[in-house]
Amino acid sequence: MAEEKVGFFKRLVNGLTKTRDSIVAGIDSIFSGYSNIDDDFYEEIEEILVMGDIGINTTTKIIDHLKERVAEEHITDPAECKQLLIESIKKQMDVGDTAYEFENRKSVVLVIGVNGVGKTTSVGKLAGILKDQGKKVVLAAADTFRAAAGEHRAGVDIIGGQNGADPASIVYDAVAAAKARNADVLICDTAGRLHNKKNLMEELHKIYRILEKEYPEAYLETLVVLDGTTGQNALQQARQFAEVANVTGIILTKLDGTAKGGIAVAIQSELDIPVKYIGVGESIHDLQKFDADQFVNALFHTSEENA
Ligand code: GDP
Repeated sequence: MAEEKVGFFKRLVNGLTKTRDSIVAGIDSIFSGYSNIDDDFYEEIEEILVMGDIGINTTTKIIDHLKERVAEEHITDPAECKQLLIESIKKQMDVGDTAYEFENRKSVVLVIGVNGVGKTTSVGKLAGILKDQGKKVVLAAADTFRAAAGEHRAGVDIIGGQNGADPASIVYDAVAAAKARNADVLICDTAGRLHNKKNLMEELHKIYRILEKEYPEAYLETLVVLDGTTGQNALQQARQFAEVANVTGIILTKLDGTAKGGIAVAIQSELDIPVKYIGVGESIHDLQKFDADQFVNALFHTSEENA
């Protein structure tokens, strides 16, 4: 178990390489390049955080908190600020306890997201992770008839329809299958075409109604998948989905492919919706539960002890 966890931390560290190279390298050069803590010093940190897509609001909060701590602790040496900055970022990411209730109950996980964000891949990975925990998983391929790419594993039943089939009717069939097979988790890979909000809303409501009526005993989780490489657009998408669905968590993918992994900080801090999983690579082990502390440690690569 410990070995597996270290493996996870290493994967996280590796997955965040691009972000580390941009944000952390920049910050380190500020800490070593300044001899005084002055406005220029703070401005440069601010600039790097914003460039890393942490976002202006979150950055402002981080810098304000940092200034407070510097004053309180009478710090004059910039090098001594680094740990405070790390703590300040962690503090902004704290959204309280993140629940993974659905893993332990009979549940339905509705996954929504626009095309290309990594939804199908994430659904496949999630199914695989749950299956490895000994859970019986049924998958509703209600988006298209693409079976969960690559991670298509024995023991995960996939209920699909023909291309163009009504997603709600696929969910209906999948609920019947989940009940008949006494499944622990039913994962629904649903559509998410944001360009037509009204249709999306209607489609989701239809699905919610079916679940309420046919499967009221199931605990409902709604996860939005966002592509980390799209930075602030991902944040925008999350806001739009939150307007039409009761979003209970985020899956943030492709953090390995971007220097703007700071978006994880922005999403966690600004949306008040927990990031529950992050994708840091292509393999099944690269979909990880998100832990703010561990994320920032991996980003700054400060501590492996508790990984
Ligand atoms: P969908 O259209 O949202 O269902 O997207 P797909 O699941 O088909 O994924 C689109 C592409 O993103 C595929 O090539 C995936 O392999 C890739 N992808 C998904 N998640 C990750 C990730 O965390 N890291 C990387 N590097 N690629 C990913």
